[in-house]
Formats: sequence, structure tokens, C-alpha cells
Amino acid sequence: MSLVIVGSVAFDTLETPRGRREKIVGGSGTYCSLAASFFTKPLVVAVVGEDFPKEMIEFFKSRGVDTRGLEVRPGKTFHWEARYGEDPNQRTTIKTELNVFEDFMPQLPPDYRKADIVFLANIDPDLQGDILAQAEAPKLVAMDTINLWIKTKRASLLRVLEKVDIYFANDEEIKMLAKETNLIKAGKKILEMGPSLVVIKKGEHGALVLGENFIFGVLAHPCEEVVDTTGAGDSFAGAFLGYLDKVNAFEKEEKIRKASVYGSVLASFVIEDFGINRFKTLSLQEIENRFRLFKKLVSF
Ligand code: AMP
Repeated sequence: MSLVIVGSVAFDTLETPRGRREKIVGGSGTYCSLAASFFTKPLVVAVVGEDFPKEMIEFFKSRGVDTRGLEVRPGKTFHWEARYGEDPNQRTTIKTELNVFEDFMPQLPPDYRKADIVFLANIDPDLQGDILAQAEAPKLVAMDTINLWIKTKRASLLRVLEKVDIYFANDEEIKMLAKETNLIKAGKKILEMGPSLVVIKKGEHGALVLGENFIFGVLAHPCEEVVDTTGAGDSFAGAFLGYLDKVNAFEKEEKIRKASVYGSVLASFVIEDFGINRFKTLSLQEIENRFRLFKKLVSF
């Protein structure tokens, strides 16, 4: 049982209708590892600059995240700036400053190479490819991306996609990557490009899981107070894969359905506050309670 997560550990500057936050801790690897940490002990691989707060690394450790793969380098931490409109599914990236990610050569520590699950969270697809080449015999490989890479590094992205089992994307990204406006057709096209499972995240409308022989729909928790949706997708993926790692099952449809619900549950918590704040107080009990509520929500 082991889950390696490669992604960004970042500073985010965010503006939502609920307020503005400058340089708070974020990043795809951050959200994903913290969400996964409620189910398993994830191993994170990323790079940060010397400006990254040591307390945050301690927080990762306190949540059981293995940080031996988190390099601290001279220079500045990756910085991303985004603005959200009234519709939280619509956001505009204002700035992406790669900083220490620019010349990052990711190295998997030797014992990380034997991981059962490798998750290539949103980072440059060339780096995703480098990491994947170092993994010895993963039972499950999953990836996520963002429209920046679909626009600027399509060929590299397609090369990685060929080698993964699960592709996580939001509806906009999946249509853009498949060059197809119908979501289901787009998902099916992706299934022909390598993955055997496509998880389409649809923000407040939940997610659609497309397998080769089944489709599963999961709702999003009906939240009245959405503060900041950053990281919802990464938290979904982290919980989904963390749960699969915990139950040591990679292909069983029933486990994939449950993993999707846990994904939606963790995403629903992270959006209740800015950045990763909600993860600081979240308990397993709250997660299980909301999981049970999800069951009620769809039983008829
Ligand atoms: P999500 O809201 O789940 O799509 O993830 C948002 C997170 O992705 C933010 O915390 C950002 O720091 C991070 N992010 C945004 N753009 C990039 C990028 N080009 N490469 C890596 N991470 C990014």
C-alpha cells in the first residue's frame, strides 16, 4: 500500500467573491496529499523555494504525509494567481510563476519507486513523464492537468496520457483535450487514448466516472457557503486515490464508486474556507458523516 503524489506545492493569490488572499499555501500536490492523508500515508514529490514556511512542512508531517520527496531549493516557490467570478466554476488565471519549478528535475527517493499508485497531479507534463519513468511497477497510474498545459504542451501531455490508467479532468479541460464539445463523446475519446477510467469533475454538479463498461455519477454536496473552490479537483483526486490505496483495490467497480463519493466529500469540505484552512480542523468523523449523508441524498 503506497501512494506517491507528484504535484505543485505553491503560493496562491486568490480573489473570490468572498475576499482576497495573498500568497497562501496551495498547489495541486498540497491539496491532493492532504486529502489523501485522511485515508493513507501519501508520499509527496515536489519542489519549494526557501521562502516556503517550515510550519507548513510540519503540518504535512502532522497529517502523516511523507515529505522526503519535497525538495527545498534556493529561489522562490511556484506562485499562481487566479480570480473567480460569481460562478465558482469560472476562473481566470492571472499569473503563473514557475520559479523553482522552472528547472526542477524530479527524483523519486528509492523507496518511492516501488509505489503501488502514482498520481501525476497538475504540473508540466514533461515532469510528469520523467517521474513516471522512474516508477518501477505501479499497479495504478493516474494524472490530472490544467488548461495551460493542454494549450502549451499538448504533445507531451498525450504521451503521458497513453501510459495512465485514470485521467482526472474538469469538463472544460476534457472537451479541450479531446477536441469534442459533447462531454460523453469527449470522455469516450479519452478512453481510446490510454486511460481505462476517466473522471470528469463538474464543480458544483459533482462528477461523472466513465469506465470502459460502466458510467457512475456522483453529486457534489449541496453547499450553501462556497468560499474558495481552489483545490477542489485535487482534493477529489487525493481522496479518491487515498481510499483506493487504503482498501488495496484498484479496479473493482464498487470500490471506484465509493472512492468517487469520498472524492466528492473531501472536495465539498475544502471549498468551505480559503486555501487548505478547512483541512486544519477536519476530522475523520466529519468525513464519515458526510459520506453517509451522500448515501441518503441519492437513495430512492
Ligand atoms: P484545482 O483548483 O484543483 O484545479 O487546483 C488549483 C491548484 O493548482 C492551485 O493551488 C495552484 O497552485 C495549482 N496550479 C495552478 N496552475 C498550475 C500549473 N500550471 N502547474 C502546477 N500547478 C498549478
